[in-house]
Amino acid sequence: MSLGPPADNLTRVSPITLADFERDALPTLWAYGEIPAISPAYDPDWQAAGHLTRAVDLLASWARTRELANASVRVQEIPGRTPVLLVDVPATANTTGTVVLYGHLDKQPPLGDWSEGLAPFAPVRRDNRVFGRGLADDGYATFAALSALEDLERRGVPHARCVVLIEASEESGSPDLLAHLDRLSDDLGDVELLICLDSGAITYDRLWVTTSLRGNLIAHLRVDVLERGQHSGTASGVVPSSFRIARQLLDRVEDARTGEILIPELHGDIPPSHRQAAQGLTAEFGDVAGDEQPTIAGLELMGVDATDRVLRRTFAPTLSVTGVGGMPLVENAGNVLRPYTELVLSLRLPPNVSGEVAADAVTRVLTTDNPSHARVTVTTSPATGWLAPELSPWLATALADASQATFGRPVGFCGEGGTIPFLAQLGERYPSVQFVATGVLGPGSNAHGIDEMLDLDTVVHVTNAVAHIVAEHAVHSA
Ligand SMILES: [Zn+2]
Repeated sequence: MSLGPPADNLTRVSPITLADFERDALPTLWAYGEIPAISPAYDPDWQAAGHLTRAVDLLASWARTRELANASVRVQEIPGRTPVLLVDVPATANTTGTVVLYGHLDKQPPLGDWSEGLAPFAPVRRDNRVFGRGLADDGYATFAALSALEDLERRGVPHARCVVLIEASEESGSPDLLAHLDRLSDDLGDVELLICLDSGAITYDRLWVTTSLRGNLIAHLRVDVLERGQHSGTASGVVPSSFRIARQLLDRVEDARTGEILIPELHGDIPPSHRQAAQGLTAEFGDVAGDEQPTIAGLELMGVDATDRVLRRTFAPTLSVTGVGGMPLVENAGNVLRPYTELVLSLRLPPNVSGEVAADAVTRVLTTDNPSHARVTVTTSPATGWLAPELSPWLATALADASQATFGRPVGFCGEGGTIPFLAQLGERYPSVQFVATGVLGPGSNAHGIDEMLDLDTVVHVTNAVAHIVAEHAVHSA
């Protein structure tokens, strides 16, 4: 039985405003923006540096000041792993299930020099936009999740038990999250709804809900040919170049001319509903995948048209070489035959391809029949993508109403090209869970790039939409 008010009452109560957010949340979000809480993969000394600890402590202190009846705030620590912030807010409705609200507090590295007047760890506000690393991806999530729950309690709107779970290894592929989930499995209870606040938006004028995410496979490929570097006048033509061998190996993975991935295990089928959705998206918004890229003048994009580019971005396996080792910087490049070449391969995977299967296939392809019997070593770190299960009717209605009530526009659905490992991990553990993956990463938000930006109006709208969805869940959860 439901103790909640009728759904249409919810749209008439006053939601939180930008002024509320500026007063209650922004000062602490700003202080968080000043902490270089770089994800562990990019900061091996993160424990000694203490930035992630400072960030989680700051967010925990803020969480303790929220007006939430009987809420408990704790930081879950596991030796050698990044911490997780947990805010457990008991149900105020007569419900038994749990809603998990997910975000992360670790940040991408700055990437490069930020534009004039901006810096990664010194937030700057311009109109209603705040620039700084990790604010939109994904520092805002703690504030949006708890502000939404606080708003419901202040207005006396019932909600189920909610657990706000903020992890600190997401930008490294969430290597620490499963260990934390293992410890939490009894404690989380029956997870009915997961709201993930780490996803993207095509525009800032409506609630965008993510329908799929690609997986990601990181592979380190190293080719050794010499014990030490040799004068290229004596060794070249005699000793095979490690770079040439690496090229041959890459040619087994990718067609260098078209970028097509040549390993069958890395391809997945595109469901017809996703093809239709991509057509609808580009019919309304144009070349959304192409237009946002800061390409040089005249560059020819991949894909035959806008819809193809959306589908490529969300379903195509791809290879990006993101790092190199064993090769001097250009100013130090001498005439030597180098002893080895190491490449970091970042492969995006279709939503319905297992990261583990892809890792095995890539390793097999790269380490079979080594050219010239060079020493080839491959290490992999896979993360599986995610394909949204079908929405329950109540949730479909709740999303539509939430977008209309907060943004004044219909909800939008789209696939994302990035990866949130948590969704696949949670989906495996709780097969019947309903998902809402949304976020504030819209045009110009520059997550992972320079000049990362958080749109404050969108944060407020998303916060109110979350409150609406959580309230509706309580109405419909027996
Ligand atoms: Zn993120």
